[in-house]
Amino acid sequence: MNKTKSLKFIADCHLGKLAKYLRMMGFDTLFFNSIDDDELIALSAQEERIILTRDKLLHENKTSNTFYLHSINHLEQLRELNRAFLIKNKREKPRCILCNVTLKEINKKEILDQLPKKVVKYFDFFEVCSKCGRVYWHGSHFKRMMNTIESI
Ligand SMILES: [Zn+2]
Repeated sequence: MNKTKSLKFIADCHLGKLAKYLRMMGFDTLFFNSIDDDELIALSAQEERIILTRDKLLHENKTSNTFYLHSINHLEQLRELNRAFLIKNKREKPRCILCNVTLKEINKKEILDQLPKKVVKYFDFFEVCSKCGRVYWHGSHFKRMMNTIESI
């Protein structure tokens, strides 16, 4: 058995939007609003995570495993990552965009009282984050994100 290891990332500050997309694509992606370079490098080494950054100094630091992103636009950043790592073909089960926890399917009946009426009417497939309890369905926001991912 030679299962290829899943890609794991840690996104530098200012890459919050990219981190959300990577989580939607199922990649284990850490993101902190503020973290210093030493901590970032330590976490990356401990957990075998690729550091995503737009910081040239950090990228040139030989002790760190970084991928330098040229673009400031999240769509272009996803394309850069796809060219380097073929992320579009390696997608896994979606994760909560806030917690990075893999979503679990949940029966509509169990969450009826949490859902807006229109959602109850039009949607039947739901997933939930076991950490924050946020419920996901394939509504317009979800579809927009998925269309963006498809377009890379
Ligand atoms: Zn969550």
